[in-house]
Amino acid sequence: MAEPNHCGTCTLCCKLLDIAVLQKPAYRWCPHCKVGDGCGIYAERPVPCREFVCVWLGSQTGPRPLPAELRPDRSGMLFYYTNSFKELNGVTDSGRPGAWRSPKVRSLIRAMAATGRTIIFRDGNGHYGVVNGEPRQIELSEPDEKGARTFVRFL
Ligand code: SF4
Ligand code: SF4
Repeated sequence: MAEPNHCGTCTLCCKLLDIAVLQKPAYRWCPHCKVGDGCGIYAERPVPCREFVCVWLGSQTGPRPLPAELRPDRSGMLFYYTNSFKELNGVTDSGRPGAWRSPKVRSLIRAMAATGRTIIFRDGNGHYGVVNGEPRQIELSEPDEKGARTFVRFL
């Protein structure tokens, strides 16, 4: 997480994600984060942080890098792959509710949906799935013993 060469001043994943090994809940800054700078324990950061690559960051070394304005701290939306790249999860910055509604993020969501992957993202207490490229609010089950939640119904 927070690779300095490509993440630049973004450290948003260190706020938005739940990191069990650190007992850090979602939507709360990691106490090791130097916000806008990087990880304060970079050399010793835990494995989930070392392995995490958001969609924007991953694209930067690929053939079609996403534009600078879609970097999570700028767009307010963080997307990442799960389940061996078969699915995408996302989370809206708690300081910018509804950020997924911007035209640039909607365009990104449509492009990601066109790959055929399932997309589920969280905006505050609400969850959204994507149908035909368009977000629709959904209800998820309560977390199981591993914290996993599954689709229940469209709202
Ligand atoms: S959200 Fe993405 S770009 Fe931002 S610090 Fe995390 S991995 Fe880097
Ligand atoms: S340990 Fe470092 S990389 Fe991991 S969440 Fe905390 S600040 Fe971010």
